[in-house]
Amino acid sequence: MAADIIDGKAFAATMREKVADHVSRLKADHGITPGLAVVLVGEDPASQVYVRNKRKQTVECGMQSFEHRLSPETPEADLLALVKRLNADPAVHGILVQLPLPPHMNADAVINAIDPAKDVDGFHISNVGLLGTGQKSMVPCTPLGCLMMLRDRLGSLSGLDAVVIGRSNIVGKPMAQLLLGESCTVTIAHSRTRDLAEVVRRADIVVAAVGRPRMVPGSWIKPGATVIDVGINRIAVPETGKTRLVGDVDFDSCAQVAGAITPVPGGVGPMTIACLLANTVTACCRANGLPEPD
Ligand code: NDP
Repeated sequence: MAADIIDGKAFAATMREKVADHVSRLKADHGITPGLAVVLVGEDPASQVYVRNKRKQTVECGMQSFEHRLSPETPEADLLALVKRLNADPAVHGILVQLPLPPHMNADAVINAIDPAKDVDGFHISNVGLLGTGQKSMVPCTPLGCLMMLRDRLGSLSGLDAVVIGRSNIVGKPMAQLLLGESCTVTIAHSRTRDLAEVVRRADIVVAAVGRPRMVPGSWIKPGATVIDVGINRIAVPETGKTRLVGDVDFDSCAQVAGAITPVPGGVGPMTIACLLANTVTACCRANGLPEPD
């Protein structure tokens, strides 16, 4: 194997330690405890796992966790009323509504009802606009985690060719904005892109956020490129009768060619939650007029 493995798990653990340090200083110096409210509507199994992990890590960092579980039939008006209460609650500095929402709800309306200052997911249109215009905002956690790993690995990203595969509002588009902010030359690829292999071959940085198991083979990767695999796909393993997680990148073949690569699991996933915790501390500091963490 040629590539270095980018250890998102270790990176995230270091980040969580810094978050916990900051939280204990906020408590000791200002008597403030950052609080994160997580709202889960319905019983999606993957969402339940994410919410459980978020709660655990929030508490481990010394923050307050407020969990709200609503039945899948909850009327949208009830969810909007809860968001309004959380917006007004001074103990809540961050609000996260776990996606996807049930089909009878309008996710855009719900996300845009969150106070942008408490929108620790960075999905509110105000935060999207602030990010797009290079202003101080709440940055979506998954792309932020990817950027931190890229900066750690590469230092300056200025002038590098970056390809983001996927154009979702939660990963692809904000990732592209962040890379543009780092002065990369950014290409956003998607399902209509012609000759994706050729597009990816030009890239010094490849971020795959597609949701298709092992779609990117090593033959598409420029030698020495840095590959960030956002995908989380559960596949069956016929030999064992069990399932396992794989990314959007074919790890084995890409690792032969890339300079560095994130594994799945243990790459982007842990960084996403660490960035959520960091965003909550940032929101708390901003709300209280205190200096933000670095
Ligand atoms: P979406 O389904 O919202 O978006 C997928 C994107 O991939 C779309 O833009 C789509 O294009 C594009 N796409 C689909 N097929 C192809 C193809 N054959 N070639 C090129 N592009 C294609 O997914 P998300 O952005 O929400 O998530 C992407 C992946 O990342 C998923 O596996 C998800 O589980 C994972 N994820 C991981 C997180 C983490 O913490 N690690 C957090 C969030 C997501 P088009 O727009 O044209 O349809």
